[in-house]
Amino acid sequence: MKRFDLKYYVDGLKAQNNVILAQAITLVESKRVEDQKMADQLLNEVIQDSTPSIRVGITGTPGVGKSSFIEGFGTYLIDQGKKVAVLAIDPSSQRTGGSILGDKTRMETLSRHPMAYIRPSASGNTLGGVNNRTREAVLLCEVAGFDAIIVETVGVGQSETLVNNMVDFFLLMIQPGSGDDLQGIKKGIMEMAHGIVINKADGDQAKLARQSKKDLLSALHLFAASETGWSTQVELCSALEKTGFESVWQMIASFQKEMISNGLFYQNRSDQNLTWFEDRVNFGILQQLADQPHLKALRQELELKVKQNELSVSKATIEMLDRVKQLLA
Ligand code: GDP
Repeated sequence: MKRFDLKYYVDGLKAQNNVILAQAITLVESKRVEDQKMADQLLNEVIQDSTPSIRVGITGTPGVGKSSFIEGFGTYLIDQGKKVAVLAIDPSSQRTGGSILGDKTRMETLSRHPMAYIRPSASGNTLGGVNNRTREAVLLCEVAGFDAIIVETVGVGQSETLVNNMVDFFLLMIQPGSGDDLQGIKKGIMEMAHGIVINKADGDQAKLARQSKKDLLSALHLFAASETGWSTQVELCSALEKTGFESVWQMIASFQKEMISNGLFYQNRSDQNLTWFEDRVNFGILQQLADQPHLKALRQELELKVKQNELSVSKATIEMLDRVKQLLA
């Protein structure tokens, strides 16, 4: 990887240069200590320079049509005068080495558009959890002038919560389905979603899609109202026939308008920042402690005793924490 000085990155981002944006994200994702130092300086330098934006998270099982939707919807947003960035969190690549957005040809038109930036998810170990660098990537995109940021994830594991904690609007994408199919959607995800989009509402499936919408709306009715006053909306679309994009955008835009007017939009972002900070600090503290040689040795000793039933878990915990206290005193 090529390395540059801080000014190069700062100027490049402010000049809205997509090549330098890509280099800056690579820097932020790097695990090298010197790169991380520079990345921290960079983020600190540009923190005040971001464009007002809307951050939209999209989740849905593979095959539901996320890439097709983002390709069409992204192009629609560009036609509305927006600059669109697409980032991905792909927990599955940890297992398979693959990547949902690894293949840019899946969003061929969008990826070639000068008003778009698509970041294939890094494969490997930076994904998921507190080490994820997607939040930083979102910020860098905003500094580079992108005002619609789409964060995509496949609905596996903890990734929805992770994404939900870094976006303003969380969108669940599903396909038309029977009542049984709809019941299979995890309740937690439905509650988290600000909007549900039923894709593939075309051809033979158009009627089923309309029925699914009705079923979903009545199911959602049973959920407790959200504290924000926003109730989850359901929209139909067809990424194939490029229909429904406008109503999906209207839904997101009216959410944003409502949240800005009741003060919750920026409140949510600062809450997210705080959670992010706390997660990182907690993670850092745990890591530092785990690296302490004295603690490591004691821990191994206690683990063995617990395993062999020589010491109770509570006694072992107390001993371990006493040592931590001594160390910090
Ligand atoms: P992803 O895995 O969620 O990103 O899904 P893809 O965008 O790769 O789409 C999966 C399959 O569904 C592809 O064969 C698409 O052509 C098809 N597909 C996507 N959107 C639509 C749609 O709106 N209508 C129909 N009929 N098929 C679609």
